[in-house]
Amino acid sequence: MSSEANIDSPERTRRLAEADLRHLWHPFTQMQEYGRQPPLIIERGEGAELIDLEGNHYLDGVSSLWVNVHGHRRREIDAAVVDQIGRIAHSTLLGISNVPAIELAVRLAAVAPGALPRVFFSDDGSTAVEAALKIALQYWRQRRSPDPKRTRFIALTHAYHGDTIGAVSVGGISLFHERFRPLLFDALRIDAPYCYRCPLDRTHPECGLACLDSLDRVLRDHGPEAAALIVEPMVMGAAGMIVQPPGYLRALRERCDRHGLLLIADEVATGFGRTGRMFACEHEGIVPDLLALAKGITGGYLPLAATLATEEIYEAFLGEREEKRTFFHGHSYTGNPLACRAALASLDIFDSEGTLASMQEKITRLTSALDDLRDLPLVGEIRQLGFMVGIELVRDLSTREPFPVEGAVGVRVTMEARSRGAVIRPLGDVIVLMPPLCITEEQIDRLVKIVRLSITAALESGDCGD
Ligand code: PMP
Repeated sequence: MSSEANIDSPERTRRLAEADLRHLWHPFTQMQEYGRQPPLIIERGEGAELIDLEGNHYLDGVSSLWVNVHGHRRREIDAAVVDQIGRIAHSTLLGISNVPAIELAVRLAAVAPGALPRVFFSDDGSTAVEAALKIALQYWRQRRSPDPKRTRFIALTHAYHGDTIGAVSVGGISLFHERFRPLLFDALRIDAPYCYRCPLDRTHPECGLACLDSLDRVLRDHGPEAAALIVEPMVMGAAGMIVQPPGYLRALRERCDRHGLLLIADEVATGFGRTGRMFACEHEGIVPDLLALAKGITGGYLPLAATLATEEIYEAFLGEREEKRTFFHGHSYTGNPLACRAALASLDIFDSEGTLASMQEKITRLTSALDDLRDLPLVGEIRQLGFMVGIELVRDLSTREPFPVEGAVGVRVTMEARSRGAVIRPLGDVIVLMPPLCITEEQIDRLVKIVRLSITAALESGDCGD
């Protein structure tokens, strides 16, 4: 970890750390454990680096939870937000409009895969998904030839779509989701193509995508009740960066078409360049009926989300007021002008810098840097698509047995990485890397080297339960 002159008084650091422990309830964080070590308090950022109160620099190895795209303190995005502040910070989209929201809707429709011209704004990935689910349900009730029995959703095991109740209902990570079962609706569950731990004990590609049999069974038994199938296209992020095999996503699109249900693509994590294409759907050349976007949409600056829809879906919501076809859903900060200006500036950078073209070499560099991790003793699998990386650690390479939960191997690696100058966050035993697209080749090498040293140190500490 590089350090510059102490820019803050130790007294201020101590006061903030104390107040953090006294008042902040951190998300997805066991607070009893959090209190055992001094908190890392970020005060500034610069490019792909975070800087703490003491002036220590850390590589932002997971893009501040998968959101940052062009780096922190991007001059163009800073300037756009400041310019917008000088006009207005917020006005509603309920019944009236605002300039940045209009301009961003035009740009999103243009950049989206296929024809998804209708843009419904909300605030976060969960709300983008929630809106998609509700739009799908209402669509079937209101389309020209209604089919109101289509009320159910097909979702994958290990899926993650957010933390609100609808999003949790279609989620499939038992640690996060199972305890909320009494509040949830029942999704129709299909096998995820988690090839490293194949639910059918088969091997790709000889299996011929046998996991799709579970979808065929669900469609045979419940097809006419299904409103939509929801999927994280190409990479199932929170599941541990499960990369779907070629042809899988296209097969989902094809099954949805054949059985007449909608396909919802949740590109909250994969969108805006993270997989090496603007949207992950492009890898398989498919177009969803509804597309959920958030996280990187503002370049990682401000909360904003969008649910994009086809013209056909949108038209089902048109009618006279008394017909009550309105989409009765909307959040206070929907289409926030500051966030939309940040998003517009971020899209401008994609254009002016050719971000997607210039990241291809960096992806290759990342792949070859990751190759160096393959000889580490307990690296079970390294999964990568673009800048989304999951390094799955296992207790036993031959049986693929996971570490015991109390070993907290992922957390140990994270803490080791922090002491070496990188901020990362694991998913169980999967070490996740998802750097900002602006990361340099030198920083890529440094990040992977830190991860290598951190895995070695964590495993050598001998407390991982191995
Ligand atoms: N969908 C996916 C695929 C995600 O990865 C996430 C967040 N990690 C969400 C939805 C929820 O997004 P948010 O945390 O912004 O509500």
